[in-house]
Amino acid sequence: MDQIVNKSLLNATCDASEEAIAVLNPATEEIVAYIPSIPTTEIIALIEKSKQAQKLWQAKPAAERSAVLKRWYDLMIENADDLARIMTIEQGKPFAESKGEVNYGASFLQWFAEEGKRTYGEVIPAPAGNKRMMTIRQPVGVAAAITPWNFPIAMITRKAGPALAAGCSFIVKPANQTPLSAYATAELAYQAGLPRDLLIVVNNHSSVAVGDIFCSHDDIKKLSFTGSTQVGRHLVKQCADTIKRTSMELGGNAPFIVFDDADIDEAVKGAIASKFRNAGQTCVCANRFYVQDGVYEEFVEKFIKAVAELKVGNGLEDGVTIGPLVDAKAKESVLGYISNAVEQGASVAFGGESLDGLFVAPTVLTNVTQEMDIVQTELFGPVAPVIRFSQDQELVEKANDTIYGLASYFYTGSIARAFHIAEQLEYGMVGINEGLISTEVAPFGGVKQSGFGREGAKQGIDEYLNIKYMCFGGL
Ligand code: NAP
Repeated sequence: MDQIVNKSLLNATCDASEEAIAVLNPATEEIVAYIPSIPTTEIIALIEKSKQAQKLWQAKPAAERSAVLKRWYDLMIENADDLARIMTIEQGKPFAESKGEVNYGASFLQWFAEEGKRTYGEVIPAPAGNKRMMTIRQPVGVAAAITPWNFPIAMITRKAGPALAAGCSFIVKPANQTPLSAYATAELAYQAGLPRDLLIVVNNHSSVAVGDIFCSHDDIKKLSFTGSTQVGRHLVKQCADTIKRTSMELGGNAPFIVFDDADIDEAVKGAIASKFRNAGQTCVCANRFYVQDGVYEEFVEKFIKAVAELKVGNGLEDGVTIGPLVDAKAKESVLGYISNAVEQGASVAFGGESLDGLFVAPTVLTNVTQEMDIVQTELFGPVAPVIRFSQDQELVEKANDTIYGLASYFYTGSIARAFHIAEQLEYGMVGINEGLISTEVAPFGGVKQSGFGREGAKQGIDEYLNIKYMCFGGL
């Protein structure tokens, strides 16, 4: 942590102790810092404080809330290098990608600082002359969030930005593996003038205990979760008792399709960006590649050439494009998928080996078929299984043959095919001749068991607002 210039970003760290949570650098597997495990009684007390702070925050004009969010945005940009270093150290992604995430994460603060000023209501034409009707939109109250390790800043600001802009208070439990980015980002919010009780970050050794509190507490009016479908399912059930509003940003199993009429060089570029970003550990990662007969050989050859140029290593070193996997369990799981696919008949066309530490070589598998486990699951690693196909309709069925419905991608030169395929894909997001689709201006979210709710865009703030209808009678 010596490289961090602005030491205030590490204010939340503590000394080593039995109670503290250790944070590891996955590139070196060394402990880099400790953070406190906050007792559950204290978390409950913090929720009460959050509730009080929210009432005052809600009463402020939107422009005042907006000004604080803009200052927070500015401080994130000013501290982007430090935030990115912290992220690379605890998460492993290459420094350039971390910096990209800091900018992406900050963009939600800038965007929602503006959107918060536009939470309009409506005047409804009344069905009777002596009535007038209108709606206003009000903050839900205290909003809670649970976020994953793969995007330790953006998954928080994508929720905190709209929540705070709408007039909610916000309490978040970041992943225990990557809390430093969360605390550093929150520290900048406080420096921007946000009262501490409006943005609370908590970790505890037991994420289950925090989840229990968030889901069952009556004063928490909304839970926004980003993480696996398995945990999302559990949280939705837990929230049923208090009929809590929820948004679920869950797992994905993105198909990446290359049609005969595609620009193959562009498809390869998109495939590399979509598959290998964050060592394949993103929810919108291409998880399985479908390549049409006519371009199969050309695509595979060019794809392997591009994969061979990726540089594996510690994300703080120059030129590194693939960092480590997040932990030993993740590495074991990815290697398991590779060996299982090979047992089921796939061929390792490139890579396939386990490297030192938590690193796995970028891998391309061919002779892959739809039935293989690697195609059916979210594999979360730098491995690209490639499947050959002939007919468009057969392809659509295979692409939709999953419980997930988050991101999907395809490359074609035909405008007719672009519309037909995009409309048939059962996914919340479709990249057409594009491998990178995330931006603050567009609605991010899934269908099927990838969840519900949208983040970013003009829709993102709706997740934190209730509609109130007011009927004026006797006029
Ligand atoms: P995860 O195991 O579901 O964990 C996510 C968060 O939930 C972590 O903070 C974790 O705490 C916490 N958690 C785990 N079990 C819990 C429980 N029973 N009660 C309450 N909280 C609990 O997911 P992950 O492995 O960290 O992240 C990868 C997953 O996230 C992938 O499936 C990926 O697709 C998905 N994801 C989705 C999106 C999206 O926008 N749709 C974006 C990014 C990632 P700990 O730190 O203690 O584990």
